[in-house]
Amino acid sequence: MPRKLVAGNWKMHGSLADNATLLAGVVSGVQDLDCEVAVCVPFPYLSQVQQALSGTLIRLGAQNLSEHAKGAYTGEVSAAMLKDFACAYVIVGHSERRSLYGETDAQVAAKFVAAQGAGITPILCLGESLQERESGVTEAVVARQLDAVLAVAGIAAFAKAVIAYEPVWAIGTGLTATPEQAQAVHAFIRGRLAQHDSAMAANVVIQYGGSMKPSNAAELLSQPDIDGGLIGGAALVAEDFLAICRAV
Ligand code: PEP
Repeated sequence: MPRKLVAGNWKMHGSLADNATLLAGVVSGVQDLDCEVAVCVPFPYLSQVQQALSGTLIRLGAQNLSEHAKGAYTGEVSAAMLKDFACAYVIVGHSERRSLYGETDAQVAAKFVAAQGAGITPILCLGESLQERESGVTEAVVARQLDAVLAVAGIAAFAKAVIAYEPVWAIGTGLTATPEQAQAVHAFIRGRLAQHDSAMAANVVIQYGGSMKPSNAAELLSQPDIDGGLIGGAALVAEDFLAICRAV
């Protein structure tokens, strides 16, 4: 059985003062949890959060990275730079990166490989838009996004990767996939990995993301193929984030 992981995605939120308050709240409540906990923070706060989390059980993550190792890529941040701040995780292929910044499946795959090359576990986001769901192509979309990474990284790479199924229509909208809808896609993803390596597939952490909150977390997390959550809005309120962690 996979371990459980709850990761906060702070997106472009925070300030030195707000982060200190939020982290103090989260750190004070993470004892005796049945899951691993991480926070994926904006680049400028990596140092602050690394220090605040030092000596705690909470792992540090970033929200994006460059597929390139170094060079003339103004504004980009490499995997090695994230490693300098002891990032354990980095989100790759978040739907906001795909839709707002035009990240392609191939680029996401390259970022996945770059993260692993630096010893950072990628959290690979997969998910369909509302239009795609309504057209009945959810599985085809998720398969295409997953296969793009499998083709470049290979199945063995998933021993050190996390997948986040995030239906785009549920992110930040207050709409949540029903536990049955989410479970069906999670099982599909695990099944697709199992076509390559069933033992590997059984152990890959597949998180759900999309308006997960204290009121719906327990039901989602009780599904057999849902191994945790990638949490946006609710990760900005310490009590809500902790309540989701406790629901695991
Ligand atoms: C996300 O940003 O990955 C996310 C799931 O956001 P929210 O929980 O706010 O829907």
